[in-house]
Amino acid sequence: MDCGNFCLACGKKLRKLETIDGKQLVYHMKCWNEIIQDIKNFDKVAQTKYKYEPLYCGLTRQEVEAGEKLVITFE
Ligand SMILES: [Zn+2]
Repeated sequence: MDCGNFCLACGKKLRKLETIDGKQLVYHMKCWNEIIQDIKNFDKVAQTKYKYEPLYCGLTRQEVEAGEKLVITFE
């Protein structure tokens, strides 16, 4: 994958040092470790750090609170 040697996590340029077995990494080691930590704590960081929106019947919480009708279909 050619990503122009920019970190996929923070968007900053990767250094030549970020390699394993001579392969350029797509993350800084520091960023990668942070991602691993975030995955472990995904339920805690998802909504704050990644602006992850839980969906209610395909609507975001704001849409539900704004009065969008929930349409429940039975199949
Ligand atoms: Zn980074």
